[in-house]
Formats: sequence, C-alpha cells, structure tokens
Amino acid sequence: MLQIAEIYKSIQGEGEFTGTSSVFVRTTGCNLRCWFCDTPFTSWEPEGEQQSIDHVLSQVAELEVEHVVVTGGEPLLLPDIVPLTAELRSRGHFVTLETAGTVFRAATTDLMSISPKLANSTPGVDRSPAWSKRHEELRHRPVVIRSLIAEPRYQLKFVIDVPTDVAQVEEWLVEFPEIDRGRVWLMPQATTREELSAKTDWIEAAAMENGFQFTSRLHIEQYGNARGY
Ligand code: SF4
Repeated sequence: MLQIAEIYKSIQGEGEFTGTSSVFVRTTGCNLRCWFCDTPFTSWEPEGEQQSIDHVLSQVAELEVEHVVVTGGEPLLLPDIVPLTAELRSRGHFVTLETAGTVFRAATTDLMSISPKLANSTPGVDRSPAWSKRHEELRHRPVVIRSLIAEPRYQLKFVIDVPTDVAQVEEWLVEFPEIDRGRVWLMPQATTREELSAKTDWIEAAAMENGFQFTSRLHIEQYGNARGY
C-alpha cells in the first residue's frame, strides 16, 4: 500500500525535463521538515489516503502520459515504491523519482532526481524544537547519496534562498568529487511568483559562474504553487 496525497497530470516544472508533460504521483509523509516546504500537506500537515499499487497504476493509465514523476513527501520511505516503479517502467513509462536523498530503496528509475537539503532548510526552534533537531540530524546522509548517484542517470537540485547558499552547495560537493557538476541545478526557494522573480537573475548568474545549471520553477511561474498543477 502507498499513502498517496494526489495523482494528477501537469508539466514538469524543474530540472532536466522542465516543460515535459507528466503524471505526478505524490506520496505523503516525510522524514524531514524543511521550513520552506512547498508541499506541507505531505510533511507538516500530512494528508492523503492508503491506495493499492493497482489503484495507483490504473489512475496513471487513465491519464495516458509517458513521463511519470514519483514525488512526495519522501517517496522512498514507502517499501511499495519499489514494485510500483518497476511496474511503471515495464508498462513503458519514463520514471523520474524525486527524493531528498536521506533514504535508499532500490527503485526503478530513468532519472533519479535528488534534492539534498542544506543547513538553510532546517526549521527554527521557534517553529518546532523537536523537528529542528530531528531535521538537522537526518538531512545529510552521504551513504544514501552515494547509492542514489550510482543510478545511470541522476540530477541534483539545490534550493537557493540567499547568496551564501551557493557556497554551501560548493562545500557539500567537496565530499562527492565523483559528482558531475553539469548535473547540479540551482533553483530559487520560492512559493510565489514574486519570490521567484526576485531571485531568478542572481541565482541564474551564480549558476553560470560556478558551472552549474539553473532551473526555474515553471509550475510556480504559471500557477503560483496551487495544488494539482
Ligand atoms: S524534504 Fe521535501 S517534502 Fe520533505 S519537508 Fe523538505 S521540501 Fe517538504
């Protein structure tokens, strides 16, 4: 069984396949609590319902789209992600799996999309002392990252809020010399069009300067982070 928040058709808004028509299978439940989480209904206030793998597959089939993005929350918390992704691939789908990179399972993917959480993601103790501590303890798991980047195709997306965050990305990468910088994407921390627009120019320039890719967040540009888009 899988705890599912929503299944819907939209366009991929971030990273290598930006603009690609995709079905999003969003699981609910997360072991982290980023202060800027753009899907709090999967983390801070989790919603959703238990669904069988067959039920998920039938909803995906009805939408008739090749690309499927399995996202969350943290989808790799759920053991049934392994048979779900294998079955999606066997049905001819291109499977992207989005993870924060703190849990490993042998999912079947065409693109492993990892969004490691930097120190800039940790919630303040004023919001939740327990989650502030737990998030900080769990957010960086080098062994898991190494297993995930062993997948044939991967990308790393870092959420950038302020200019000093770019230096944090560089520090993070020192531990992983095997990572191809061309697969590293910087994207603005934003949940509104206004925030996105205010950060785009300087983050794009910083990405170019450091040999990274820049990704906007198309779904926020177009829909302002509304649910189901
Ligand atoms: S890892 Fe993702 S789903 Fe979990 S709290 Fe952070 S942004 Fe939200």
